[in-house]
Amino acid sequence: MTTDPGLRVGLGFDVHPFAPGRPLVLGGVAIPHEAGLAGHSDADVLLHAVCDALLGAAALGDIGVHFPDRDPAFRGISSLELLRRTAALLAAAGWRPFQVNACLLAEVPRIAPHADAMRGAIAAALGIPAANVGLTATTTEGLGFVGRREGIAAQAVCLIVRDGGGAAP
Ligand code: MG
Repeated sequence: MTTDPGLRVGLGFDVHPFAPGRPLVLGGVAIPHEAGLAGHSDADVLLHAVCDALLGAAALGDIGVHFPDRDPAFRGISSLELLRRTAALLAAAGWRPFQVNACLLAEVPRIAPHADAMRGAIAAALGIPAANVGLTATTTEGLGFVGRREGIAAQAVCLIVRDGGGAAP
């Protein structure tokens, strides 16, 4: 019989199109840019991918189930709040985040100057060390919707651990 190690991995992915006249928020950080992203919330594509990775790891559905974009309560909401609520959902199910690694796919703007601030914001929302939050970024060399500067995509993986020594959820 195999012993459950009390670990789960998660995978998340999201895309949002650019929209003029909106603030750009990525990883919980406001970034000066000529356009933001379209979406019901603050359209933080990076945090949405992280939320889905966490929810997926715990097999708790996805961000659309818990924070539906039809619900006026979530209009314009900070995705950092969605991330905090996601961590609370995990905690209620007996899990806690341990590590996140995410990748932004964006032709513009440059991510590197803001990466550490994003890592810090994600870490703070999840209550984990910034050293446990990795963030990489890449362009797509002009190819596809990212390359045409039509939007930004994000991928995230995470590791969650069973909280405390309680029974398996
Ligand atoms: Mg989204």
